[in-house]
Amino acid sequence: MPSVPGLRASVASYARPGRPCPVCANRERGPIDAGLTVGHSPRYVARLYDLSRAALSRHKRVCLGLEGGRGDT
Ligand SMILES: [Zn+2]
Repeated sequence: MPSVPGLRASVASYARPGRPCPVCANRERGPIDAGLTVGHSPRYVARLYDLSRAALSRHKRVCLGLEGGRGDT
């Protein structure tokens, strides 16, 4: 089966171990996860811990498996 290496690589690298999630690597991950789990917005948590909102948003969806809330994009 033919593949499209460039495209596959760019998509796959998004959630691969080779590119660690900055939130997972953060020493404050415990309280960060707790904040997201109880419903704080990624934007709010990002400001508290000096992380990017995009990283928080992705971490919430990909790493925690939580749906993005309203106004979350
Ligand atoms: Zn993560």
